[in-house]
Amino acid sequence: MAMNALKPAEAIGRIGTESAFEVLARAKALEAAGKSVINLGIGQPDFKTPDHIVEAAIKALRDGHHGYTPAGGIAELREAVAADLRRRLGVEVDPGLVLAVPGGKVTMFFAVLMFGEAGAEIMYPNPGFPIYESVIGFSGATPVPIPLLEENGFAFSAEDVLARITPRTRLIILNSPANPTGGVTPRTEVDKLVAGLARHPGVAIMSDEIYGQMLYDGREHASLLQYPEIRDRVILLDGWSKTYAMTGWRLGYAVWPKQLIEGATRLAINCHSCVNAPAQFAGIAALEGPQDRARDMVAAFDARRRVVVEELNAIPGVSCVEPGGAFYAFPNISKTGIPAKKMETGLLEQAGVATIAGTSFGQFGEGYLRISYANSIENIRAAIDRIGAWLAEEENA
Ligand code: PLP
Repeated sequence: MAMNALKPAEAIGRIGTESAFEVLARAKALEAAGKSVINLGIGQPDFKTPDHIVEAAIKALRDGHHGYTPAGGIAELREAVAADLRRRLGVEVDPGLVLAVPGGKVTMFFAVLMFGEAGAEIMYPNPGFPIYESVIGFSGATPVPIPLLEENGFAFSAEDVLARITPRTRLIILNSPANPTGGVTPRTEVDKLVAGLARHPGVAIMSDEIYGQMLYDGREHASLLQYPEIRDRVILLDGWSKTYAMTGWRLGYAVWPKQLIEGATRLAINCHSCVNAPAQFAGIAALEGPQDRARDMVAAFDARRRVVVEELNAIPGVSCVEPGGAFYAFPNISKTGIPAKKMETGLLEQAGVATIAGTSFGQFGEGYLRISYANSIENIRAAIDRIGAWLAEEENA
């Protein structure tokens, strides 16, 4: 009863969630109750963090790195990030503009807080990572969806993005390779977008490139950081979670424009002070150490991707385009006539397969299901068999 006297801020009522965590909790509860559940829900590599990275964190603790670090991260980490970006993307980055944060998510929160307020518009991909829309709404800004379409391979269209810019647009969020679709936007489209942005100098871009090293069939990663003409307004979101199987370490980074780094650093000081010190040492080891384990993971995901696409396409009523990156497939289930959320629930509760409804990623996700193929080929095959059997039963019901 006393709860009724509490008056949380109105903004709390506008904050959304990431239902992958709810599905994970439900899957764990079902497993604990003795049910077999194959998890194709949560988006995290099923591999262990490579040993040399773990050892670097243990050594850091043994060496007495127990305290606060500078808010943006220790200098060696920021330098290692700059060197990695030079190697991978051929860009020069001032390590002073690198802000280490507890996970990639923190950068999107900060970027949206930096620009979001009532009257502002922020564009975001839809279907897209659910936290974008959630945080935009929380900030008071108006979320403006960029619809991502299957016929476009779920890449964004430059023309579409540019057409949605209004005098109120403050920030555009982009994500390639993308969650939940695996879509990859080709460089030609990014070129067109950057050319068009010249007409909108007051619009910032947050480019979520957390899957930038998970590309297939020889695709090349087009980073927004590679365009000097917009460097003064690009926020790069990246991190270690996916590339190095480090989701639980909570380690990510951003490269901020010079004009914004002080505000971003103050947000960090107000929010979390700094990333835990041993994770930062692990991050250095990840970037400077051998990359073979990271490459092996991508090769494993690629093999699974082929199995997922082939097996899903063999199910009547289901069709799946080939994802070009990340570790997600986004099959079209509209021909089954079953709404996405209903299918998510039925598959989890009855078939024992955790997936995520496309609608968890925005209204343009209806008619789709997200399958994370961060699981073994045997489990993927077994899960897709279960999906096929469940759908056949539904059809006969
Ligand atoms: N961006 C995208 C597109 C993601 O899919 C995720 C995680 O699923 C993140 C950012 C967040 O990464 P982190 O776990 O490092 O916060």
